[in-house]
Amino acid sequence: MSAIRIDGNAVAAGVRSSVAAGVAGLPGAPTLAVVLVGDDAASEVYVRNKVRSTEEAGMRSVHHRLPASASQSEVEGLIAALNADPEVDGILLQLPLPEGLDADAAIERIDPAKDVDGLTEMSAGRLSLGKPGLRPCTPVGSVILAKHALGPDLSGKHVVVIGRSILVGKPAALLFLAENCTVTIAHSRTADLPALCRTADILVPAVGRAEMVRSDWVKPGAAVIDVGINRVPAPEKGEGKTRLVGDAHFESCAEVAGFITPVPGGVGPMTIACLLRNTVLAACARRGWAVPPQL
Ligand code: NDP
Repeated sequence: MSAIRIDGNAVAAGVRSSVAAGVAGLPGAPTLAVVLVGDDAASEVYVRNKVRSTEEAGMRSVHHRLPASASQSEVEGLIAALNADPEVDGILLQLPLPEGLDADAAIERIDPAKDVDGLTEMSAGRLSLGKPGLRPCTPVGSVILAKHALGPDLSGKHVVVIGRSILVGKPAALLFLAENCTVTIAHSRTADLPALCRTADILVPAVGRAEMVRSDWVKPGAAVIDVGINRVPAPEKGEGKTRLVGDAHFESCAEVAGFITPVPGGVGPMTIACLLRNTVLAACARRGWAVPPQL
């Protein structure tokens, strides 16, 4: 392996401790409200981690649970109550919602001032207009990791983002554009994707296809920021066992890249760290507090 492995756990720990230091200097503790609908096992783990990390950073978290049988109006009613609660700075609606519920409509009910996931139309619009606002967490984490590898000034770098989802691909592309990168967004209809990827100084696969990006897709010395999280069979660990891999084939890409994020331990840990950061930013904007210099 010639590439430098970007340690997302370490970078995320740095962001979390900056958040904690920033929170310690605020006049009060920001509050994150987490809404979990139903009993999806993976979502329960994510929510537990978010609640724990919020409290470790010195903030308050309130956890609201609704049963899988909750109606759309019950979910939206809870969001409306949280919007109206002056103590709540950020609202996180854990996705996916149980079948039958309309996640887009529920997200749209979140007050944009409390939209710490950056998913409302207002937040997305402000991002695309280049206006200040709350940005989606995973894309922000991807930019932070790229800066960690290449330095704070990414101007002029050619970024190829593979994926154009509302959650990851599009906002990642817009955030790199805001860093003065030259950005290409690739997707399932892109012609000769390997050749396009080979022109990238920063390659950001956000597809959800295990180890799709091979070493001959990577320009020598490029930074690979792998957003993909894919569970694949791992018979070597025992019958029925699985392991997580990214959208890039780590071992072979690491032979060519200059920098590469592993999966797990790359972009993943940045998501919660950036959620905490957004909660502080939302609290400061709402309450008229100065943003802590650490952020
Ligand atoms: P989506 O399924 O919403 O989007 C996938 C995108 O990949 C689409 O734009 C699709 O193109 C494109 N795509 C699919 N197949 C190909 C192909 N063969 N070649 C080129 N492009 C292709 O996924 P998400 O954006 O929600 O998530 C992407 C990945 O990121 C997943 O692995 C997910 O688990 C992971 N993820 C990781 C997070 C983290 O914290 N690290 C957080 C969120 C997601 P088209 O639009 O043309 O269909």
